[in-house]
Amino acid sequence: TQQALDQSEKLRSLGELTGGIAHDFNNLLTVVRGSAELLRSKTLPPEKRDRHVEAIVETADRAAELTSQLLSFARQQPLQPKQLDFNALISGMTALLKRSLGGGVSILNTPGSNLWNVRADPTQLENLILNAAINARDAMSGSGALTLTTANVRGENGEEVCLSISDTGCGMSADVIARAFEPFFTTKGPGKGTGLGLSQAYGFAAQSGGRLEIASEVGRGTTLSLYLPRAVGAKDVGNLAKIDSADAAL
Ligand code: ADP
Repeated sequence: TQQALDQSEKLRSLGELTGGIAHDFNNLLTVVRGSAELLRSKTLPPEKRDRHVEAIVETADRAAELTSQLLSFARQQPLQPKQLDFNALISGMTALLKRSLGGGVSILNTPGSNLWNVRADPTQLENLILNAAINARDAMSGSGALTLTTANVRGENGEEVCLSISDTGCGMSADVIARAFEPFFTTKGPGKGTGLGLSQAYGFAAQSGGRLEIASEVGRGTTLSLYLPRAVGAKDVGNLAKIDSADAAL
């Protein structure tokens, strides 16, 4: 079947990638091991100790990003859509986003009021937001602002909720925008990008009945906009507790 062919094509490309990924992963392990080795010294001054600990945490996070992208790409996890509120999901991620972006990037949150619910897989949605934030961090090289905006939209696609993620980074040329959703397309150096983030986000948006758009200007920044249809009907029973209980206000 077409689906089986698509799947085997994906697995083949994944196989081709494996060598490169293993190499990148090994590099990361080398950083972790080196820092751990230095931490063994009993006479290390506290500032140095902190720096090595920080390096281990950051590198481990990077390695986890790499494997989770690969796993979800290879596995094509079935989506588990739930009815949810973008604002609550975002405020539940604030601490994670702050940690991923580092101190030089400020996070602005402009939640739309009376926001409609959407129906989407919360884990995949969090992945998409985290990925976009990491792309923004890379584009801003350490300082700038990340703005998360939500709004109800009524247009030619009916009633939708829009989440836009804007950065004040380097922006993308028309050529890069044209290819950004291609799997394995990356402009980042070896060991830095997999080129899977945006292609996966694109697929997820489409599978969720929505769409993903890029607006970008070189030297000014990038806005990634995710549109999902307004959810109709009753809320699921047993919705994620984390999302239900999160306070929508930042
Ligand atoms: P990766 O981040 O691993 O390179 P992605 O699919 O997430 O893979 O992104 C593909 C490419 O799109 C990146 O390599 C980069 O050139 C470009 N890109 C994505 N997000 C941004 C952004 N916020 N600002 C500038 N360029 C971006």
